[in-house]
Amino acid sequence: MAARTHTGMRGIAAVPSYVVMQPTTLCNLDCAYCYLPMRAADRRMPVAVAEAVAASVNPWATAGRFSVVWHGGEPLAAGRDHLAALLAPFGPEVEHHVQTNATLIDDAWCAFFAERDIRVSVSVDGPRERNGERVTRGGRPAYDRIVAGVAALRRHGLPFSALAVVSRPGPGLATELYDYFLDLGCDVLGVNIEETEGVNTRTNARDAGAVTAFWAELVGAWRREPRIHLREVEWSLRYAGAVLDGTADGLLPRRLDPIPTVAHDGSVVVLSPELAGFTDPRYGDFSSGNVLATPLAEILAEAGRTPWVDEFLTGVEACRSSCPYFGFCGGGHAANRYFELGRFDGTETEHCRNSKIRLLEGVLEHARDNQSPAA
Ligand code: SF4
Repeated sequence: MAARTHTGMRGIAAVPSYVVMQPTTLCNLDCAYCYLPMRAADRRMPVAVAEAVAASVNPWATAGRFSVVWHGGEPLAAGRDHLAALLAPFGPEVEHHVQTNATLIDDAWCAFFAERDIRVSVSVDGPRERNGERVTRGGRPAYDRIVAGVAALRRHGLPFSALAVVSRPGPGLATELYDYFLDLGCDVLGVNIEETEGVNTRTNARDAGAVTAFWAELVGAWRREPRIHLREVEWSLRYAGAVLDGTADGLLPRRLDPIPTVAHDGSVVVLSPELAGFTDPRYGDFSSGNVLATPLAEILAEAGRTPWVDEFLTGVEACRSSCPYFGFCGGGHAANRYFELGRFDGTETEHCRNSKIRLLEGVLEHARDNQSPAA
């Protein structure tokens, strides 16, 4: 499992597997851990930006499965009419997803999702008392509005995924969360340990033992009743299985997925949506181009020449040669390096310790603790 045996993740692929679109910068909530700048301003994406993106995306979607992820701000804050106008240029082969705080979902939005076969992912951090960081712009708890939105999805029989942010991992939390999401009725669950990113400057340094124990407990909860696809646990089990049968190198993509984020104004930031909207004296606005001036396919073909991207690729090589977890992680996220280390060519971050290294260690800890005595 030596890091240098992993041959994937060299350079940037010219064609992504999905595009993230920001229909508005606005969010109607004001969560304490949110990374988004400009979330109090309603800067809406013009339809011309969606038309320009669709000109590249439609042929990609004809050639193979392709998704557009509408992510804000809060994408539903753009309103149904505007979102419909932004969706219109995309061909029928394109899969659409929305990542939403669920507070605006009602019967009319459910009809909108159903008509267009839009897949919904809701952000909810667990039971009411775990959502204290999630408040409206007036500072009131958002939880009742979140669960009202989820109830509307269930009333309409719409499947949904959930994304939970964990700020303080501690004993018992993983079981509580997993049981909550079983009841909530989601098909897929992603769990993020809070990250220091964007305008969220709170530290994400966590006690190593507590984070590892959190992931180990989550694996145990999931194994008792594996009714939900639990993103992080399934990734790590797949990796552990591949290590055991000697196929781990095949799990990493050969090249990094550029994951372009198209901001409201058409500017394109690759690899990390969290960098959109920020500027830095060394790196400028992180943008690799604007779809109103250059086709998205051309921007991505040249994305590797963006100065910060080149520095990030140096960081990926440093991870490859130094980190025993590279085969699982693939070199981490650009935004975590930038916001934690101030540059892109470093290696370990608190984020990768919390969400990659301790995740894998938690899976192993669970396996060790549950070995039969005869094994
Ligand atoms: S980002 Fe962190 S976990 Fe991932 S390969 Fe680099 S050092 Fe290892």
